[in-house]
Amino acid sequence: MAAQEDEDTVMGEAGPHNPGPAPLQHLNGGTPGHINGGSDPSLAPPLMGPSMKLPVQTATAMQNPQPPAGVDNGGVSPTKSLPKSLDSGELNTDDYPKTDSLEEGSDWSDTEGANTTWGLPLTQLPSGLCYDVQMRYHCEVRPTTDVHPEDPRRIYYIFKELCRAGLVDDPESSRPLVTRPLQRISARNATEEEISLVHTPDHYAFVESTKDMSDDELIDLERTRDSIYFNKLTFASSLLSVGGAIETCLAVATRKVKNAIAVIRPPGHHAEDDKTMGFCLFNNVSVAARVCQRQLGESCRKILILDWDVHHGNGIQKAFYDNPNILYISLHVYNDGKYYPGGVEGDWDHCGAGAGLGRNVNIPWPSQGMGDGDYMYAFQQVVMPIAQEFNPDLVIVASGFDAAAGDELGGCFVTPSCYAHMTHLLMTLANGKVAVCLEGGYNLRSISKSALAVTKTLMGEPPDRLHSTAPSISAIETVRRVIMIQSRFWSSMYPKAPQDEGLWTDRLHDVIRAYQTKQLYENYKLTSLYIYRTAISKSFENQVLATPNYYQRNPLLVIFHDPPEIKGLPHPITNKLEAHNCWLADAMKDYIGWAVGKGYAVIDVNIPKHVTLEPSGKYEEEEDNRPTATEELAGYLWDNYIEPNDATEIFFLGIGNAFYGVANLLINRDTLYKRVNGVVSFVAENPVRAVASHTQVWLSRWYKDNSLVFVSHAHGVWNTDDNRRKPSKRYGHLIQSSKSGLSEMLVNHKDEVFRWIEERADDQEGESEEEKPRRTTIKAAEAFPKPN
Ligand SMILES: [Zn+2]
Repeated sequence: MAAQEDEDTVMGEAGPHNPGPAPLQHLNGGTPGHINGGSDPSLAPPLMGPSMKLPVQTATAMQNPQPPAGVDNGGVSPTKSLPKSLDSGELNTDDYPKTDSLEEGSDWSDTEGANTTWGLPLTQLPSGLCYDVQMRYHCEVRPTTDVHPEDPRRIYYIFKELCRAGLVDDPESSRPLVTRPLQRISARNATEEEISLVHTPDHYAFVESTKDMSDDELIDLERTRDSIYFNKLTFASSLLSVGGAIETCLAVATRKVKNAIAVIRPPGHHAEDDKTMGFCLFNNVSVAARVCQRQLGESCRKILILDWDVHHGNGIQKAFYDNPNILYISLHVYNDGKYYPGGVEGDWDHCGAGAGLGRNVNIPWPSQGMGDGDYMYAFQQVVMPIAQEFNPDLVIVASGFDAAAGDELGGCFVTPSCYAHMTHLLMTLANGKVAVCLEGGYNLRSISKSALAVTKTLMGEPPDRLHSTAPSISAIETVRRVIMIQSRFWSSMYPKAPQDEGLWTDRLHDVIRAYQTKQLYENYKLTSLYIYRTAISKSFENQVLATPNYYQRNPLLVIFHDPPEIKGLPHPITNKLEAHNCWLADAMKDYIGWAVGKGYAVIDVNIPKHVTLEPSGKYEEEEDNRPTATEELAGYLWDNYIEPNDATEIFFLGIGNAFYGVANLLINRDTLYKRVNGVVSFVAENPVRAVASHTQVWLSRWYKDNSLVFVSHAHGVWNTDDNRRKPSKRYGHLIQSSKSGLSEMLVNHKDEVFRWIEERADDQEGESEEEKPRRTTIKAAEAFPKPN
């Protein structure tokens, strides 16, 4: 119910921009409609009423009809912004004098006038800057020649960069070059009460105690803690850093400034309720968020904290893990939990708990080296859709610049213009209320340039053009996985992940092999060959099939292939692959049918990409030991079912990566090739295998003369002139196919392959004409009685 009223109100606010009477009905409590975001009941727990933020701004604008003067007075003050009666979700027109005219309001152009007459009130507000030189006083007691990366000069360099760009009115160093320079926001000491909104009393007492310690005690203390140093002024600097963040966020949230940047240190996002770590003592951003919520009530209920520091902000995540009104989104290097701060907390499956479930979004990069294309992709695919759906009242950026190009600790390549674009996107949220608070970032030049780009964007300058926008494969994989996980919580996230993993029983490749087995038996009487060796049998049960004449005196075709290709069109919304929308491309059966029709024997070996041990709905990578297992199986088959028998000619056909087994067999068994009359291989994406040996120099010559190797026209092997003109003979007789996929190639070249094999088989026949009658041409279905 509450959510519905919320939607109505949002619709109502849109009224003045809409040339039609419809929106007015919504203000009257008319037709409920759904507008993206703000409608999740979990965002409005019983303690707080529904969001009424938007009409408040309309009302405020009407009450203060002379901006910018009205805004300079402090804009939305907490009491004005939330009329008490709105907590109940009821619209009380007494709190909205001007709303009356809207309601009476057939004359909507009156309302339009109210919003357009006074120009651009928000644009004319200055952006804010918080900087205090005293935050440089936290430094190492006895600096060594190696300057600590959390260098006090960090904030000074950023400040100087902003001055040099003419954005600051600083009597000591620079006159502004812009008409509306940054408005200075004074840092102040945060109070113990404020800090206690996030940290334990013991933690506060501990940090405070450092101010009275001797230098030696401070150095000793450093050794007992995780990545932190102290001096006598650490506590003082930390209070100012938190206070600076608070004042900056308050100034933005109450519209004293349009938006702001806080150039503060020591940083805070690693600090947990009860511990200092990673250069952080108090969690600046978390304390500021809590203070804003407490002081501003409903007008600042929902806060997005966006953390683009290269490290995961474990402290922020912990502070708000079960809080439905703080959405924490972090982009960070994760590297399987090995990158600082380490552990599993930064992984993508940490999505919040209790009422805060779904309000924690981790985008964990698998490695360093990420760049603009990756960050923009994550912003466009995940960050912005979720942020818009959450619809915050305030955006706080935990702004480490250690993913910046040039930062050795971070090892990433985010350029200043990418930071500008991310800022620009965030400015579309919360009516532009964005407070950027410095966190990490250790290359003085990189952080200065990045902070300058962010600040210019906040002030209204369009971001510079981006030079690289293509995401890396690892970014696409990461983002895709995050979307799947977050799709449970956000209606804007598609496709949805499959639910209920326990339901999934049979892996499709097992189902398909069982089907193939049945078909090959019914049509050609192929049956399973028993694989005796235990190490192999488990993996290849049902994977090796043979015609009844496999041991007799006739040509034998041994096929090693990958499982057949499947084409599926997942449902665009649910992401479900459904049976009626999946197809199998089993071109192999044509080859088997042809061979059987010719009276040849066939051994058909399917090499699964993953061996099913127990049912699970989990995604599985191709197994690393597959090539070794394939080679082992090939050797076993050769020794037990091929070499000892009477086949007149032997042909190998290798399709896809399964050919690996054949190639290694030829290389590793000295005389094997003398029994083989031809090798045909199809290669689409896997490497083209060389068949060569140091001990048998003639092997590659033999291979060249006795093979057909069809390679996809798109394969990298064709990128070198040598391979196009005169490829090395160790790759066999290379043929560039006009097709690209394995199935396409198999279909396209089958007549060529049949002819080639026939010619070679017939050659041999000519030499031993008397053996010909012994070849048994079976019409498979008649060869053996069907089982009952
Ligand atoms: Zn960092």
